[in-house]
Amino acid sequence: MRRISARGVCFTRQMRANSDGDSGPRGAGSLLRLIREGEAVTRADLVRLTGLARSTVAQRLELLLAHELIHEERSSASTGGRPPTKVVFNKSAGVVLVADLGATHARLTVSDLAAAPLAEQAFDLDIGEGPETVLGRVDERFAKLLSELGRGPRDVRGIGIGVPGPVAFSTGQPVNPPIMPGWDGFSVPTWFADRYDAPVLVDNDVNIMAMGEHRMSWRDCSQLLCVKVGTGIGCGIVIGGHIHRGAQGAAGDIGHIRVPGHDDVVCRCGNVGCLEAVAGGRALSQRLAAAGLAAANTREVVGLVRAGQPTAIKAVREAGRHLGEVLAASVNFFNPSTIVIGGDLAAAHQYLIAGAREIIFQRSLPLATGDLRIVPSHLGDRAGAIGAAVMVTEHVLAPEAIDSAIQAGVAA
Ligand SMILES: [Zn+2]
Repeated sequence: MRRISARGVCFTRQMRANSDGDSGPRGAGSLLRLIREGEAVTRADLVRLTGLARSTVAQRLELLLAHELIHEERSSASTGGRPPTKVVFNKSAGVVLVADLGATHARLTVSDLAAAPLAEQAFDLDIGEGPETVLGRVDERFAKLLSELGRGPRDVRGIGIGVPGPVAFSTGQPVNPPIMPGWDGFSVPTWFADRYDAPVLVDNDVNIMAMGEHRMSWRDCSQLLCVKVGTGIGCGIVIGGHIHRGAQGAAGDIGHIRVPGHDDVVCRCGNVGCLEAVAGGRALSQRLAAAGLAAANTREVVGLVRAGQPTAIKAVREAGRHLGEVLAASVNFFNPSTIVIGGDLAAAHQYLIAGAREIIFQRSLPLATGDLRIVPSHLGDRAGAIGAAVMVTEHVLAPEAIDSAIQAGVAA
């Protein structure tokens, strides 16, 4: 099989339609998208949808067949005559590696090119050990998972890494991440470049979670907020199917918006009264532990809530109200149709969402809340890994990336 590499087109403007129309809106990459998205099942569908001549469609499909990105199947449903041949996306034409790194734990998956997990592993990992150590451990496990699947580094088409801190998405470098000592400015793509011939995308953990929730459960929702309430608090913003990262990648950092009445609480960012310092998992566990309860971390707080411990329930509901104060302002500002609440603390979502809902509906404008849904995460702790796999597959299978890879292959 001819090797397809999207490297080199990863972070640069990709090649547009050339004079003979091999790439661009009607190139092989666009045909692949129609096939992947189920809009085109046969050659006749492709002719009809693109307006291209049948011979041109055949030429484009030859390229996709040569790169093993599609295969053809005889349709079994026939009532006479020759059954039409189905054109099918070959989601096994490679794999993507994904690591959703949290402050204290990690989830790795190897997924197919339709972003479906083929193998996964979750384990405890201290992000504070620094990038070399952490990525070294991650890569050891990637190698093991790949070998269990009978795959190797040459099968890897892309890598997605989520980290618990701000990231310059265009370069894959964390920027002043408060809980990630040693990671500031570290180039994650460069670290992987010696190991894999594949593009590496790095984003913060909240954005990949938002991507996962959007694509798997709310695909038709064009304005979605996805709030992650774990040790800290952050929010992913999806507009028109795309993650909105803001000018510098800092959009959605609601954990450091001030909530009134808590000027005595100092946040790890140095400011006082930040939402995260008042209502985040770390804040709750510290408060409950000070009250004599066994609440060393967010998961133990959730355990207390599930066991019906009244002080813990009250604290989580109150945290939901504080979250609601910040989200009420966000609802007036952004007018989302859906707010998904996820993260470790969302495992106690009935109380968290009840508190948030109470304040959002009280404080937001009726027009903005008319059809507003506030729902718990559907994917739970897999949302980030699934979202990162989606992000990578959409990147490496984008029509421009496919056309560039094919042209590079033809030129080689
Ligand atoms: Zn803060």
